[in-house]
Amino acid sequence: MKEIVEPLLKWYQKNKRTLPWREKTDFYHVWISEVMLQQTRIEAVIPYYKRFIHELPTVFDLAKVDDDRLLKLWEGLGYYNRARNLKKAAIIIVEKYQGLFPKDMDQALLLPGIGEYTASAILSICFSKKEVTVDGNVLRVYMRLANCYDNIDNLSIKKRIRSSLTEIIPIKSGDFNQAFMELGEVICLPNGIPKCDICPLRNQCKSRTAHSFLEIPVRKQKALKKNQKYTVLLLVYNKKVALHKRGDVGPLKNLWEFPNLANKYSKEEVLQYLSDCSMKVEKIEKGVSHTHIFTHLKWEMESFIVTVTEENTLYVWEDLENIIKNYALPSAFQPFLNDLSKNRRI
Ligand code: SF4
Repeated sequence: MKEIVEPLLKWYQKNKRTLPWREKTDFYHVWISEVMLQQTRIEAVIPYYKRFIHELPTVFDLAKVDDDRLLKLWEGLGYYNRARNLKKAAIIIVEKYQGLFPKDMDQALLLPGIGEYTASAILSICFSKKEVTVDGNVLRVYMRLANCYDNIDNLSIKKRIRSSLTEIIPIKSGDFNQAFMELGEVICLPNGIPKCDICPLRNQCKSRTAHSFLEIPVRKQKALKKNQKYTVLLLVYNKKVALHKRGDVGPLKNLWEFPNLANKYSKEEVLQYLSDCSMKVEKIEKGVSHTHIFTHLKWEMESFIVTVTEENTLYVWEDLENIIKNYALPSAFQPFLNDLSKNRRI
């Protein structure tokens, strides 16, 4: 594997993408971008990253941000616990390390939300520590280079790759890690045919010679997602809509949502339910449907827009403008908010 280092670094120097978090090798910028990149594609992360850094430019700002504001900045990225952990870690960095990231791997791993991957990325990119980052891109490229059919979901394989790369990682460890990952993103593609003709590692790649790159990497079959059905109630009174805060267990814990019922309810069943809750209905009509996919779950959601005759204390009642501006509503509920606002349903 040693012979991949030089061509990989040369390729990276020439081809690396210009990205906002690459403008400085400051730990705060790298950290925020790495956590956001665990959620979605680079192109999708850029506007979120810019907005976040604009509003919270330093770790000190993050440590004291209001929780609702933080979740609003994270809205749309999902996995809100990652945002909460960012703030928890920022508080520790400010209070225990005077605003500096701990340069020791063991100490870094004690920070909330910082796992081996994020710690390695920060330590190598910002402090040139010889720590290897192993993400899905690295696993794929490595296994193809080695023409290896072992299952990459097996933890021992990841360990083996990490220790093999630790032996060859150069002084420019941050560039090496980023080059490996970037090669996986733009050349050794996960879906579709890899661009072997322009790959800097084509001479070292065993699966290119064996024409086996489409069979590698081997993965476990994914477990089927569990289906759950929900009926979302868009309760409206005097141009205000009812919101409810979720409990602290299960997906989307402690986040705002529109009231909803587990299972699919007919119009009559919804009316009966509201009557049982002592809510009088003026008008009820069908709203949009939406299917939301989580890692292990699939929510099939239908909705009703229900105009009621008075507010009640079961919920918080807010106008649409205020919800859009100040509440972090998870993506699962955004289509219903869009339906109300864009289609002027109320
Ligand atoms: S030669 Fe092809 S399969 Fe091998 S690492 Fe490069 S892009 Fe991937």
